[in-house]
Amino acid sequence: MKIVKTIQNMRQLSKKAKIHNKSIGLVPTMGCLHDGHLSLIHRARKDCDVVVVSIFVNPMQFAQGEDLEKYPRDFNADRKLAESAGADVVFYPDAKHICQKDSSTFISVENMGKIWEGKTRPDHFRGVCTIVGKLFNVVNPDVAYFGQKDAQQAEIIERMVKDLDFNVKIVVVPTVREKDGLAMSSRNKYLSSKERKAALVLYRSLQEARAMIKNGEKKSDKVLDCMRSFVKKERLSRLDYVGIVNSEDFSAVSEISKTSLIIIACRIGKTRLIDNFLLV
Ligand code: AMP
Repeated sequence: MKIVKTIQNMRQLSKKAKIHNKSIGLVPTMGCLHDGHLSLIHRARKDCDVVVVSIFVNPMQFAQGEDLEKYPRDFNADRKLAESAGADVVFYPDAKHICQKDSSTFISVENMGKIWEGKTRPDHFRGVCTIVGKLFNVVNPDVAYFGQKDAQQAEIIERMVKDLDFNVKIVVVPTVREKDGLAMSSRNKYLSSKERKAALVLYRSLQEARAMIKNGEKKSDKVLDCMRSFVKKERLSRLDYVGIVNSEDFSAVSEISKTSLIIIACRIGKTRLIDNFLLV
């Protein structure tokens, strides 16, 4: 497995692969790899000739006061995990090469980028899309892989690709969970053991919602009220939002249907976690 640190070398490698008619799969990550990330790499390995995993803690997607500095980083562990999952290349650029100080061009997806996650974290998706767009330009992948865990992000990237005619196919891979249901996330590392138990409230409230819907409930309000009171019972949790949305544009729906998505964001102590369930 190769480790590539510069844009120039990454471009060369990608060009070479293309000359030999090889398909390139890209898995963008911020490192601190876990089984969720690895499932994306496995899928890319199945689909593509060359698998590139990018590891870049993107400063542009963190707001002031968020966890950029303390975000967990362990390149050596990541390198080994990426290789064992089948990556051919780890693209590990330096922040100063990717985010130039004088850059003044950004990719911003309107509407969908400003609601839910985008409301709590106003410049977050602009940071994500700008860097993912840059990665697409540098790596030139045929396919790029994103997790259902960050459902709004995946949908926004699809919108960006469609609107700006990026020549890349987006594949969304199901959420990988711990045995007890907690969605895997690099931020789970921040949780104390008490908080780790409390964090289950996200998954459990989604399950409650799913059970209600299975039993015939069609009104979003009723399901959301039940989720809110469920989360309230967990002393260490503070709800940011719950919503039932159309999975294609994240607009809130009042009547639940097969294409609805239930989304939740919650603080457990100081750690902010998100999760979702697709109803199909
Ligand atoms: P991150 O390193 O958190 O930016 O995540 C990189 C990619 O891995 C994103 O597309 C995430 O949606 C995806 N991902 C993170 N956690 C999971 C998970 N538990 N299951 C599936 N994909 C995930």
